[in-house]
Amino acid sequence: MMISEKVNQALNKQITNEFYSAHVYLAMACMFDGKGLKLLAKAFRKQTEEEREHAYKILDYVLEQGGEVKIEALPEPPAEYPTVLAALEAALEHEKLVTSQVHDLCALAAEEKDYATGHMLGWFVEEQVEEVASMQQLVDVAKMCGNALLQLEAYMIHHGS
Ligand code: MG
Repeated sequence: MMISEKVNQALNKQITNEFYSAHVYLAMACMFDGKGLKLLAKAFRKQTEEEREHAYKILDYVLEQGGEVKIEALPEPPAEYPTVLAALEAALEHEKLVTSQVHDLCALAAEEKDYATGHMLGWFVEEQVEEVASMQQLVDVAKMCGNALLQLEAYMIHHGS
């Protein structure tokens, strides 16, 4: 095994965190769909797929390094939020949390002089800058739309991925 037990365990935890992110966004996608916000729902479903890819990226790395992957149980994500804006704000807070998780992993890799893991995590550091920025943008647009949620859908026509 080319990674320490400690790093292996921390990476396994992050695999779970990324799958949990997928869970959170899938629940949000369903809530948005239920409110008729089909394009916002579609964007969050796509984000769900991205989160799974994040999990697989770490999972493949652990396997490649001869580590042991442990697939853990996921907590149940919130099914409802009081408003669409509240859900988007929760998504933004969630991405900020993931950023801090990634930074903690980077600190551990540095402490362990594990340069390969540190390098792999560099991709996640960059990705998180993008994730936080795009969630912040959605929150800002939702605030501008206020109760006119159809305008948020109109925005998603051009900016939804
Ligand atoms: Mg992620």
